[in-house]
Amino acid sequence: MAGKTQQIKVGNQVIGGNDFVVIAGPCSIESKEHFLETATEVKSQGATLLRGGMFKLRTDASSFQGLRSDAFQLAKEVKQEVGLSFLSEVTDPRQISDLMDVVDAFQVGSRNMYNYSLLTELGRTDKPVLLKRGFSGTIKEWLGAAEYITKEGNEKVILCERGIRSFDSNTRNVFDVNAIAFIKANSDFPVIADPSHGTGVRNLVTPISLAAAAAGADGLMIEVHPHPDQALSDGFQTLNFPEFSNLMKSLKPLLSSVNRKLAVL
Ligand code: PEP
Ligand code: MN
Repeated sequence: MAGKTQQIKVGNQVIGGNDFVVIAGPCSIESKEHFLETATEVKSQGATLLRGGMFKLRTDASSFQGLRSDAFQLAKEVKQEVGLSFLSEVTDPRQISDLMDVVDAFQVGSRNMYNYSLLTELGRTDKPVLLKRGFSGTIKEWLGAAEYITKEGNEKVILCERGIRSFDSNTRNVFDVNAIAFIKANSDFPVIADPSHGTGVRNLVTPISLAAAAAGADGLMIEVHPHPDQALSDGFQTLNFPEFSNLMKSLKPLLSSVNRKLAVL
C-alpha cells in the first residue's frame, strides 16, 4: 500500500513519475483525417499520450457506438505518423486479442469497473490498464477492482478518477478531488484525472484540471476535437484547439508551484 507511486510505462511515456502526463484526443475516433488532425494538434500543444474511443458504450443504444474494428488500422497509422502512444477502451474480453497490437494501454470504462471477468482477462495480459472509477463506485470498490487485475499478475494498473453521480444536475458528474488526494496518500497506483467526464461541462474542464494537478494527480485525460459542436459523442464537454492550448498554458505555472513539470517525449 501507500509508498512511492509505481512508475508505469505506456508505450514511449511513463505515468507515475515526477513529470505530469497529459493524455488527449477525441471522445470517439470519427475518421482517419479527424483523428490525425486532432492527434497532431494535441501533440504540438504538449500532450504526450493519445486517447480515442473505438468501442463506445452509450446510454442510448441508438447513439454512435464507435467505429469499432474499422478504426484499428487507422489508429495504428495515426499513432505511427504522429509518434504518440495510444490508449483506448476495451468493452468486452473478446476484443482483447485484436487490441493487443493496436493500443499501448487498455482503458476500462466507468460502466465496466465491476466487470470482473473483463478485469481478470486484462490481468492475464502484460499491458497497462487505465481503470476508470465507476460513477457510483466507492474508493474501496475501485481499489478492489484494481486487485482483480493485479491478482492475475498484471501490476500495471493506472487509476482514473472521472467523477461520480450526485443529486446535483448542474454538472453531469461531480469530480471527486478527495479521491485524488486519497489515492496518493493510501495506494501505490498512479492516478489520472479526467475532468471532461468528471464535470461534463466544457468551461469547467480547465479549473478542475488545475485542482486535480494541485491535489497530486499524475496526469490528465482531456477530450479534444477540432469542432466539438459536431462531435459524434460528448461534444458538450470537449475542448476545441484554442481551449486546449489555454489549458496547457495554465497548467505550467500550477505545476511549477508544486515542483513538477509537464512530461516531454
Ligand atoms: C470515455 O473516456 O470516453 C468514456 C466513455 O469514459 P467513462 O467510461 O468514464 O464514461
Ligand atoms: Mn467521452
